[in-house]
Amino acid sequence: MKKILITGAAGFLGSHLCDRFINEGYHVIAMDNLITGDMKNIEHLFALKNFEFYHHDVSKFVHIPGNLDYILHFASPASPIDYLKIPIQTLKVGSLGTHNLLGLAKEKKSRILIASTSEVYGDPLVHPQTEDYYGNVNTIGPRGVYDEAKRFQESITMAYHTYHKVETRIVRIFNTYGPRMRLNDGRVVPAFIGQALRGEDLTVFGDGLQTRSFCYVDDLIEGIYRLLFSEYVYPINIGNPNEITIKDFAEEIIKLTGTDQKVIYKPLPVNDPLQRQPDITRAREILKWQPQINRSEGMKQTLQYFRSLSEEDLYKSEHKDFSSFS
Ligand code: UDP
Repeated sequence: MKKILITGAAGFLGSHLCDRFINEGYHVIAMDNLITGDMKNIEHLFALKNFEFYHHDVSKFVHIPGNLDYILHFASPASPIDYLKIPIQTLKVGSLGTHNLLGLAKEKKSRILIASTSEVYGDPLVHPQTEDYYGNVNTIGPRGVYDEAKRFQESITMAYHTYHKVETRIVRIFNTYGPRMRLNDGRVVPAFIGQALRGEDLTVFGDGLQTRSFCYVDDLIEGIYRLLFSEYVYPINIGNPNEITIKDFAEEIIKLTGTDQKVIYKPLPVNDPLQRQPDITRAREILKWQPQINRSEGMKQTLQYFRSLSEEDLYKSEHKDFSSFS
């Protein structure tokens, strides 16, 4: 049985990756320090013989006994309000954490795939974003801790590939949504759905004319799966090119949920990218991948998930206490 280590396993994407690799017959070693992850996302896997969980922070030395075939590095805070609350941890997991996992991959001769992001393009001046665009990032802005950690992560990953011949893969993930997003993580999909379900007005930041392109989680997981088993070592965009303004997206959620709440406007956060849409030509050609699930279908599934949460979850707007983490 092939063994795979998945970091950030209790998070949104990590937990879906655990499910996928369990279903494909792998032995899954799940790792998470639970700063932003939630055990509820992987609870259903604990009874399985081919699943183990390590409560560990990957920015500290990572030890895995025995052989290891694959590593998926998905540990990181991933929402703008998290970067503000835990900036140092965000920098450490992308830099020190990636270094530790690349060292582990070198030692075990494992293939490693790292989760990069559309944030490496910053507030992009090229539209849609192709992989050869270098980006427009403010190093010292509020998002800089995430963006620069991820940019460093790509550099060190390529260096390990070139100098140590480690088998590496890099996915640049664009906005993704679906079941198991954290209701209070501040990102737009859980924010709007949570507001609609609680009967609050929907908060659009800025004039709402900024755009995003939302990919349903199942499509993203399929793209990552194909990339891991491809021979392609350079960064590759995975996302859904169907672009929408945030204002129109708020209207869509109002219709979908049937709420009679309105849209209210709040100030635009600093360095909030004005437009974002992946160019997925590379993924189409190399991975023979493209999204299959449109926004209306994906949002229906997502709404069903949020509706299934308890009242307590719905009203729990407080973040975890991060004060004991450094
Ligand atoms: N946004 C919003 N209202 C909210 C949360 C987010 O208008 O309650 C906007 C945010 O300013 C951004 C977009 O929605 O322009 C997507 O934000 P998100 O935090 O989901 O992800 P980002 O793509 O900015 O990392």
